[in-house]
Amino acid sequence: MTNIILLGPPGAGKGTQAKRLVDGRHMVQLSTGDMLREAKTSGSEMGRKVADVMARGELVTDEIVIGLIREKLTGEAGGGFIFDGFPRTLAQADALAVLMDGLGQKLDAVIEMQVDDAALVSRITGRYTCGGCGAVYHDSTKPTKVADTCDACGSTSMQRRADDTEDALRTRLMEYYKKTSPLMGYYYAKGALRSVDGLAAMDDVAGAIAKVLDSAE
Ligand code: ADP
Ligand code: ZN
Repeated sequence: MTNIILLGPPGAGKGTQAKRLVDGRHMVQLSTGDMLREAKTSGSEMGRKVADVMARGELVTDEIVIGLIREKLTGEAGGGFIFDGFPRTLAQADALAVLMDGLGQKLDAVIEMQVDDAALVSRITGRYTCGGCGAVYHDSTKPTKVADTCDACGSTSMQRRADDTEDALRTRLMEYYKKTSPLMGYYYAKGALRSVDGLAAMDDVAGAIAKVLDSAE
């Protein structure tokens, strides 16, 4: 069992790679972004509380996301956990270390996905997702074959994230540089940081991540 963190700015491709690891290695993806969006959709009190913060591109409180992760860590671990979008602050990283310790688990690697900002902006503003199966598309680089119809499952409910606008993206990037990028130094100092080129072709990124996983086992 291998537990990893995928670290990188919004649009680096963390979610895409995590889904491949779920399919290929039966790992369990823990995406706090997905959990928060589900809470929002379900209309729970917490979901209502975080909706505006998320739409602006700001981070929600450590307390909320640590609580979400704590709940999921007691569940099925499969081939290991992929932390996607968590931790995003040093406080979250410390809390994760304590939670993993308590479970007798360890982090095997922290994989930094390196990309440049120009690529992020074009990747994110143009992105849409199938509401049926989660397949990800893009207006210019990967449109659906038939407009607004999923190639994979035929669903016609295409969704755009409320925070995939230029304004919110600017805030998300600033939050990343101020609060999340210090984690690279933190995990480097722990000897856990591995970097892959997030701008390479999707299969090549997957290959680079597979290499890290195989050497961590
Ligand atoms: P991105 O594509 O920007 O990496 P995510 O789907 O991971 O986005 O997260 C979307 C939003 O959810 C973030 O901008 C933030 O508001 C909130 N969020 C997700 N994970 C965390 C976290 N670990 N700590 C604080 N806020 C979070
Ligand atoms: Zn679909």
